[in-house]
Amino acid sequence: MTGAGSAALPAAAPRELFVGGRWRAAEGGGTFAVRDPATDETLCRVADATPADGQAALAAAAAAQEGWAARPPRERADLLHRAHQALADRTDELALVITLEMGKPLAEARAEVGYAAAFLRWYAEETCRIEGSYRVAPAGGARLLTMRQPVGPCLFVTPWNFPLAMAARKVAPALAAGCTAVLKPAAQTPLSALAFAAVLADCGLPDGVVNVIPTSTSAAVTGPLLADRRLRKLSFTGSTEVGRALAGTAGERLLRVSMELGGNAPFLVFPDADLDAAVAGAVVAKLRNGGEACTAANRFLVHAEVADEFTARLAARFAALTVGRGTDPGVDVGPLIDDRAVRQVHALVREAGQRGARVLTGGAPSGGAGHFYPPTVLADTPAHARVCHEEIFGPVAPVTAFADEEEALRLANDTPYGLASYVYTDRVDRAVRVAERLEAGMVGVNTGLVSDPAAPFGGVKDSGSGREGGREGIEDYVDVKYVRLALRHG
Ligand code: NAD
Repeated sequence: MTGAGSAALPAAAPRELFVGGRWRAAEGGGTFAVRDPATDETLCRVADATPADGQAALAAAAAAQEGWAARPPRERADLLHRAHQALADRTDELALVITLEMGKPLAEARAEVGYAAAFLRWYAEETCRIEGSYRVAPAGGARLLTMRQPVGPCLFVTPWNFPLAMAARKVAPALAAGCTAVLKPAAQTPLSALAFAAVLADCGLPDGVVNVIPTSTSAAVTGPLLADRRLRKLSFTGSTEVGRALAGTAGERLLRVSMELGGNAPFLVFPDADLDAAVAGAVVAKLRNGGEACTAANRFLVHAEVADEFTARLAARFAALTVGRGTDPGVDVGPLIDDRAVRQVHALVREAGQRGARVLTGGAPSGGAGHFYPPTVLADTPAHARVCHEEIFGPVAPVTAFADEEEALRLANDTPYGLASYVYTDRVDRAVRVAERLEAGMVGVNTGLVSDPAAPFGGVKDSGSGREGGREGIEDYVDVKYVRLALRHG
């Protein structure tokens, strides 16, 4: 591990609520602490929104809705283009904020800023292509028109693992479609969302179109909003457990929901795969964001013929990585978000060990002030170990051998989750067959990275519903209205 550096939070980083285009304190003046997971020190305190602040934010979003939807698409697109450029211009400053509050190495934080910005550009481009249709009624005598209209004010609840990108992935399509929003970031990482709001404001965002309300009491603030008739949609990214609870509440009033939830991605390596490429892809699929990604490879299912070689090579790659504070030069893997995460990851490793898995590298918390866990490879992991069934959310790679394609698919699909999946094979027929049969919203073939703003990101089964990104991403923010136009003859 490297030593702690001295990077400091930019003095200009906003720490207040952003409501109706104004920066302000929370009602009653409450604040909560944001900590650096690499040192466990308090970075700063931010305004702590109350239920009344939540209501004020929704009132602002509702008041801005009609005017924003009525803007010409090109105007909405221009704002998104400016925001894309502004994010790109401020990459270093935003990356530092992400790294300080979330922990990932600066290079990955810069990549996150680029990923977030790419959503703004993609949806700037989509803004002018939200189309309707014109049909001749099959029985004659009428024309059938459809139009896509904004669903209205949205509530966005986002996680801490990609604190800027998860906000941008929701805000960009919403703004493109003509929706306004209230964004409630995770309490661990409110600073990136507030910095994003500042960028949007600098780019000419009209008052009330996006409101940001960090809070330490998420359920108390979001509960009344979900019950409020002015709110027309909830888009949530986070754990399946919390998503299920929020979807239940939203269901009581049939609120539209999109759910981007947890994953348990299988990473399949067939004997015909290019093993160099598979190992390189495995490092990315497992260690991007230190394993704290919903798309992280959770289980490595490797054909018995190549399992030992793959596992040994992966362990050698993991052992060579530098763990440390994300702001220090040369760091490959940052800390986990908090001590609870370290304990949970380690409990999974211990349990796998008790069931016969062998630790080839890593395997115990790094100790010290921050929340560090080393990249860990487990060989011969029994498929029934907890580490193969629960979302690890840390840098641990359990490897399990399989005998044939049928067994690989059975193991891969033996999970309630269905978000990302990965397949390494040099046979086209196998790639197609396996991709078709994997129960997942996304399949990476010979790649360890599936995220792309131009592609529909989302899950099946307990990993949620709805898609973010691609042309499909707009659909989550529009209602289709049908107009029947009767024709009189003569
Ligand atoms: P989390 O579910 O604990 O929290 C997510 C958000 O919900 C946070 O803003 C949190 O403050 C809020 N929240 C928590 N309890 C709440 C409640 N009772 N009422 C209202 N809001 C509440 O998840 P997390 O730990 O922040 O993020 C990690 C999880 O997110 C992982 O499971 C990961 O797989 C998932 N994730 C999914 C995607 C995806 O696109 N599918 C992307 C990133 C992360």
